[in-house]
Amino acid sequence: MSLLVAGTVAFDAIETPFGKTDRIIGGAATYISLAASYFTSSSRIVSAVGEDFPPEYVGLLKDHGIDTEGLEIKKGEKSFFWSGKYEVDMNYRETLATELNVIENYHPVVPDSYQDSEFLMLGNLLPDVQIAVIEQLVSRPRLIVLDTMNYWIENTPASLKKAISMVDVLTINDSEARQLSGEYSLPRAAKKILTLGPEYLIIKKGENGALLFSGNKMFFAPALPLEDVFDPTGAGDSFAGGFMGYLAKIGEVNFESMKNAIVTGAAMASFCVEKFGTENLVNLDKTIIYNRIRQFSELIRFSDMEIK
Ligand code: AMP
Repeated sequence: MSLLVAGTVAFDAIETPFGKTDRIIGGAATYISLAASYFTSSSRIVSAVGEDFPPEYVGLLKDHGIDTEGLEIKKGEKSFFWSGKYEVDMNYRETLATELNVIENYHPVVPDSYQDSEFLMLGNLLPDVQIAVIEQLVSRPRLIVLDTMNYWIENTPASLKKAISMVDVLTINDSEARQLSGEYSLPRAAKKILTLGPEYLIIKKGENGALLFSGNKMFFAPALPLEDVFDPTGAGDSFAGGFMGYLAKIGEVNFESMKNAIVTGAAMASFCVEKFGTENLVNLDKTIIYNRIRQFSELIRFSDMEIK
């Protein structure tokens, strides 16, 4: 089934204890759509870049079967730029620069050919732009998932709450869940956040896995413990891409299917962090992905036991 992805398509400059990159391809929509491309052959992007964005980067998305008709290249403008630095504990990062550039006054245009999208992933972006994408779709997709981050919680809280009220699933990380709810306990935070509208909430905990909440139900998927993590940038977005790609592939939306989707997301995130930027994510195949998902099932499977 078809997946529409909105989010930043960007330049990133990343520094980790293992190295440094200068302006490589990044952005939420980039990671999401690349990760999803291994599951659905019909994914489309709505976003904008400046004229500084190299055609080879757009080609990389196209090579993965991603429809870029909705990726506007704006003359005279510069692409979104983000720069971040990680310390040895890579669960924490410092944002060194966020230059909105082309997305600051961006009014998204959803092409007619995207109107039949059944799944909508609203990656990290201005909440007003996320809302505008939902409002442009004539019929509501079967599932709308929204991801956001502290930048938008701090800078545009009212629009963000409105956007959250319009979606089925919200994905955020643990510190953002605490910030948004004012609660330290994650189950309490989840209860509060679910009153904002979504039926499901996913809280990402970096190398400590991810939690799924809905009503009184809860599910946990670990992250795969890896010997080497080079660059966590895009892990959350690759997680979202795997999650959405899996659901779009099987076409079933409920708590049970979301458990598998979360494990798929965790698998895609584990590939992402093994190399810098999108380097690993662009070179996968179905067998490699399947084998990794099996590693997850080995990691967490145990037999039912009776304690007397
Ligand atoms: P993640 O590591 O999954 O949180 O995603 C990192 C990606 O998000 C990078 O490629 C950035 O270009 C992009 N990004 C960083 N800050 C923002 C922001 N405020 N809004 C939208 N995208 C962002």
